[in-house]
Amino acid sequence: MDKKGYVMTGTSFLLILPAILIAITLLNYVHGENEITTQSIQSDTLNFASEDLKRNIPTLSRQSMENISLEIIDNNKTVENSPESIKNQLQIKINNLSSQYVKQGINVTCNVDSVQTSPQNSFFIEFNTTIIVTQDNLKHKEHLSQLISIEGLPDPLPFVKCRPYGYLTHNSTRTSYGSSLNNYLANTSVKNASLYENASSPFIIKKCPYDPYLSHGSKNTMKNCQENGFYHDSSDGSCYLCRLEGKGLCAHFGFEVFIQPSPVYFNPQNNSSVNLEGPCSSDHVIFGGETYPGKAIIYKIENGTNYFLFLDNGHASKYGAI
Ligand SMILES: [Zn+2]
Ligand SMILES: [Zn+2]
Repeated sequence: MDKKGYVMTGTSFLLILPAILIAITLLNYVHGENEITTQSIQSDTLNFASEDLKRNIPTLSRQSMENISLEIIDNNKTVENSPESIKNQLQIKINNLSSQYVKQGINVTCNVDSVQTSPQNSFFIEFNTTIIVTQDNLKHKEHLSQLISIEGLPDPLPFVKCRPYGYLTHNSTRTSYGSSLNNYLANTSVKNASLYENASSPFIIKKCPYDPYLSHGSKNTMKNCQENGFYHDSSDGSCYLCRLEGKGLCAHFGFEVFIQPSPVYFNPQNNSSVNLEGPCSSDHVIFGGETYPGKAIIYKIENGTNYFLFLDNGHASKYGAI
């Protein structure tokens, strides 16, 4: 019986051996799957963290640029290296955000590598960052290049240039120069500087939608453009980052806006205002260090008052005004 039993047990063992092997394989498989599931949950968490950062960087970048610009405009701050100032301010904001992941056991570092004017479109600033997200032994690293619009941000250039010469004010849409621009121009013996007494220019950057620019040859288009305070692409005008540094000209592709002289009452008896000549109204001419004159181009007459810009031949032909 014992012997038979032993044989039987041996046979049984042989019979169930494949079942045991299958079970072991299955167990391994299930265990393996568990590991895969855990890993994908972890990488989902990492993904979520990096996506969250990606979504927040544009807002934080805009805030950094706006803060610096308003400090220049309202608190007389001067900035020598605007990409560096923006980088530093953005890095602090990003570090604050990254630290919130620690309690979830995720380690997030995001380094702001560079900030530069987009070579393709001067109305955008390119922000380059590197995100590294780690949890346990998992790691996710990503280089990001994001284009952030500067439309809607204030233009600091007039304040940096004219503040030493007088008092400038602004509301939410326009900068008023008072006597400062007149004094700034007179300081370098520019002819007819006084035509810019009480001049004004747009406070907020908005890209002109009237494209091609030749369409400004129509008085109505020029009137709408001026009343809305639109900015125009210009290889001569300075870019936003250089405006923060108070540069009226720069090597980057930038933009220009017109500074409006005070409107004048036009007496139909003598044609005097039509023949006015003054420093060209493009801001890169006024703030570029070397002004040149332009002829008055009237775009609106209201109750005898003439609203006009001074345009030299180059600008007049760019905007279809001749
Ligand atoms: Zn325009
Ligand atoms: Zn520039």
